[in-house]
Amino acid sequence: MSAQADILRRGWCPGVRRPMATGDGLLVRLHPFGGRLSADQARRVAQAAREHGNGHLDITARGNLQIRGVREDTYPALLARLDREGMVEPAGGGPNRLTVLSPIAGLDPLDQCDTLALAQHIENAAAAIEDLPAKFFITIDGGGAMPLDDLGADLHLVATGKDTIAFGLSSSNSLHWIGTSAIARTPDAVHKILSGFSDLRRKGVSEARRLRALEHDLVRELAAHANLLPVAMPAQRPAAPRAGVISHEPRRAVLLALPFGRCSAEQLIQMADWSERFGSGHLRLSFTRGLLLPKIADEHVPALIDEAGRAGFITEADDVRLSLIACPGRPDCGSALTSAPADALHIAQSCGDLLRQGLTLHVSGCPKGCAHPGKADLTLVGRDDGGYDVVAGGSTHDASFLHLSIDEIMSRLSTSNTQDDLRRTFAEKPQ
Ligand code: SF4
Repeated sequence: MSAQADILRRGWCPGVRRPMATGDGLLVRLHPFGGRLSADQARRVAQAAREHGNGHLDITARGNLQIRGVREDTYPALLARLDREGMVEPAGGGPNRLTVLSPIAGLDPLDQCDTLALAQHIENAAAAIEDLPAKFFITIDGGGAMPLDDLGADLHLVATGKDTIAFGLSSSNSLHWIGTSAIARTPDAVHKILSGFSDLRRKGVSEARRLRALEHDLVRELAAHANLLPVAMPAQRPAAPRAGVISHEPRRAVLLALPFGRCSAEQLIQMADWSERFGSGHLRLSFTRGLLLPKIADEHVPALIDEAGRAGFITEADDVRLSLIACPGRPDCGSALTSAPADALHIAQSCGDLLRQGLTLHVSGCPKGCAHPGKADLTLVGRDDGGYDVVAGGSTHDASFLHLSIDEIMSRLSTSNTQDDLRRTFAEKPQ
């Protein structure tokens, strides 16, 4: 295949067959089912990232793994290598991976159904549906300890009882519940909704690329076509943990986060080694942009946490780095005006208490905002003078009236103790 012919524009959904051009070369995204990798697979991917890319990998917000810095001349060899590993997505223009699961799927004692089996049935049922948009995805949530409500899925399925699956659509800041089905009927109901959506697009009835963009009466028609039953609002659960030890008696799962979701080939190999030394020889990619090691015996947890902390992983749920968002920035991205990740870590020193309260800081190397299209409590957009445009409570696409150096930003942050302080401190308008 010609690598050149299939390179995507930014904003599309890259895969292994469809790499995307970025500032540091081609980005190749892998979509293993359920985010599951064996230790050997993880080592082989890490080795491939070293040999064919720049040795940097990312874990995405859907729990996929991307190899960065691949050159056009090394891409064909990488494609052939991943094909031999069985890690190339099916051909075609649809979603590279339809379903997203909790990293503790199959282990979570609070889950009310077997989400791995349900996801596989849904993938099989939907495999032949044509013309689904590439970004389309479904979250399969067993109702356990790691809710998937906030991922923005087209269709969010959550177990609300031993034999009940509630169907939700993501809307701007919540979920819109459209009905329920019994578990055995769920793959067929999903097939009816997806094929109905595809038909609406093919016939020109709707141009919506996501289910959430479909007109309400069309959504109601799809729910009726799928024979969904009335739904009661599922119970709210605490947000998913992003790092730390998760109990799944009689063993533990250890969720390790990575600053900005960025992982080196060496770190991935370390994870593979730990999974064999301390656990079952398996690891799972997490939508929290980290990696989970399942089946760790109690006595191994302290040693694993200690080694992981020293290797640069985030091991505690209150680590301020979890509240930082930054794109690759300079020098990895050719469009970057600033070193966004290094600046974010530096600036975080002046606002640790705010970040521990859960406020988010997004530092972007340019206005494209690749790392986070949405709002953050404080968004900083890189400028060619090394400073930042500042947006409080908005995104990189919002107008900024305030342009500050890093020292000025840190000085103002050091006197802010609450979200209101933050808004006041950075609310300045031009003279
Ligand atoms: S937002 Fe960051 S990664 Fe995206 S193009 Fe700009 S500098 Fe590059």
